[in-house]
Formats: sequence, structure tokens, C-alpha cells
Amino acid sequence: MERIGIYGGTFNPPHVGHIRAARYAIDALKLEKLLLIPSCIAPHKALPADAPTPTQRLEMVRLSALEKMEVCDIELSRGGTSYTYETVDSLAKQYPKKELVLLMGTDMFLSFLTWREPERILKNVSVGVLYRGDKGELEQIAEQKKNLEKLGTTVYLIENPINAISSTQLRRLLIFGCGKTFLPDGVEDYIIKNGLYGTKKDYHNLPMDALEQVVVSLLKPNRVAHVLGCRDTAIDLAKRWGADATDAGRAGLLHDITKALDGPLQLTLCDEYGIVLGDFFQKYTKTLHALTGSLVAERIFGENQQVVDAIRSHTTGKANMNTLEKILYVADYMEPNRDFPGVEKLRQLAYTDLDKALKLGLEMTVALLNKNNQEISPASAEALAFLEKAGV
Ligand code: FE
Ligand code: FE
Repeated sequence: MERIGIYGGTFNPPHVGHIRAARYAIDALKLEKLLLIPSCIAPHKALPADAPTPTQRLEMVRLSALEKMEVCDIELSRGGTSYTYETVDSLAKQYPKKELVLLMGTDMFLSFLTWREPERILKNVSVGVLYRGDKGELEQIAEQKKNLEKLGTTVYLIENPINAISSTQLRRLLIFGCGKTFLPDGVEDYIIKNGLYGTKKDYHNLPMDALEQVVVSLLKPNRVAHVLGCRDTAIDLAKRWGADATDAGRAGLLHDITKALDGPLQLTLCDEYGIVLGDFFQKYTKTLHALTGSLVAERIFGENQQVVDAIRSHTTGKANMNTLEKILYVADYMEPNRDFPGVEKLRQLAYTDLDKALKLGLEMTVALLNKNNQEISPASAEALAFLEKAGV
């Protein structure tokens, strides 16, 4: 029996990861064709109010589709919440002589029995699981395969080791002006032409509260309190040490702006911005968010040189730091959400002797790196040497 694949999702936006997975499935299961089905309202996640319209998502999926891929608007034309059981009921009627294979990633597969009407779905389709092959998940997948096969379906496991990007990360990259690498041909142009995902907004010199809103939308939720704490602390320290409180606040807000991007995406951003990296950064991508954050602050948010410089040195420090740079480094270390042995000493020093506070922060970082057998960044070593020499 000929097979037809069913690949649903919000496709917000569709990206190369989707298309490669689709390609894998077509080849691995020798599919006659694969239906790409954008959902109207996904049962498990609501789209934000400013998300592209369903028609725009459909159009982007159309632009992404390659050979043997067919865009199907069954869920969009049905409207409302897109339940898979309704979709496969219709498709089974439409294709009575074909084997339908419902494709899904590991997470969806493992939670399949919590979907609406799972057994009804399985009456109409086989299941194709696109899994990455992480060691931890293989056992769970094998067990779930057995569970579903007991219900009378066939489960195909398709290894799909490519983990290019998620739509969430891609939306961040788009704001930073560099989503191109991960978008199918034509989709980036479409996004930019239509100003989707905030790509047409001007983020230069936003007032403080508008800046805060944008920043919060780009951070991972668990980093928001830290960033707001860092902003408040930086402002307090600026008042104490006679630095510009507005610059301090803006630097505090923006200092971790690219932190949500993982190592490979940090490298992508550098690549797209035309930055050539030294060995240390290539190896320790964790510290890269300071550099990429400073570039985003400069190019996307139009911040002044003071703010940009402070962000650039906030992770490693550097020799001969100015007052704002010291303030951001120390504020990042001791804002109210930080909790580690020695933080109280640092908080006290921050208001009595900023250089000593900076030095203590650097020393604590070095101690931690030594403990974890990691290299110390050349900039941190230079910062410490500079303070030693100055007699701090
Ligand atoms: Fe940071
Ligand atoms: Fe931070």
C-alpha cells in the first residue's frame, strides 16, 4: 500500500529543521507524498497576539515545501482548535486506499496518550517518530512504541539527528537580524516584506519601559528576574559612584540580551555579523553572549558606546575598566537574586570600594573556573593583573 505522510505543526515560522525532517521521513518511509498541515489553533500552545495570521503561516509553509511535499489547509479551513483526530478522520476518508503515517517528534510521541481521542487516531494512521537518538530517550521511545502497538498501530522510528533550530530561537534571531541561515528560500524575504516577528520595528533608542518589554520578550523566562535585578542594582551603583544612571539601567537591561541563544547559535550570530573569533571564544561559547549582546545593543538597539562597552566586558572583565564597566560587572554578580557564599561581602564592598568589589568578583570567577578545570579568559587574567598592579 502506498504511504502518505502527515506532518502538522504551527510552523511559526517554518524553518529548515522542519523541512529536513520532512525530507528524512519521505526518504526513510518511501512516502508517495507528505502533507504539511499548519494548525489553526494548536491544542497545546496558544500563539501570541502579534503572531502572523493563519494565512501568512500557510503562505510561508507553501514557500518552504519541496518535492513530494504538499501543503494542506484542512485545519485552517476547519478553524478553531486543531484536533488531530478530526484531521485524520477526514484524511482517512479522502485517502481510503493509502497508509497514512502521522509524523511527530519525541515529546509529542511520549505524550501521545494524553491527546484527545488517541485510540481513534490510531485506527486511521500509523505513527512515524522523528527522534534524535539521545541516549536518555531511547528506552522511553521503545516502551511507548510497545504501548501504541498494543493498540493495533504500526510505529516507525526515524532517526533524525539534525537539531538545527527551534521556532522560538529563530524568532529571537530574526529580531537580531540574522535568521536567514535557518529559513527555507523565500521565507526570510516574506517575513521581512510583511514585517512579521517584529522585523519591521525600529528598536533604536526605545524609552526605558518599552525597552524593558522587548528585552523581557527575548529572554528565557527564568532569566527575567536576574536581568531586572541587575538593572536596578546597576542604577543604584551608578548613583553611588557618579556614573550615568540611564546608561547603567540600559546596560543592565541589555547585558544578557543574547543569553537565550545556545553556543552554536552564538557562533551563527557572530558569523552573520561578520565577527571573526579567537580560539578562546570558539572553545568557551558561554562567554560569547557578552560580545554578541554588545553587538545587538549597538546595531539593533542603537545604544551609545558607554552602554555597548559595559555589556562587552560584563562576563570576563578586562584591563583598565571605566566606572560603568565596573558597575555592570559587579551588579551582574551581586544583584538581589544572586545567592552564593561570599555574595554579602561583595554587596557590601560594591558600595564602599568598587575596585575591591570588582577584584573579588574576578577572583571568585577564577576560583570557580579552576575548580571546574576550565580555562580563564585572557581578558579576566588581564583585568586581575591590572588591579594587582594598581595596588587594589
Ligand atoms: Fe551575562
Ligand atoms: Fe547576567
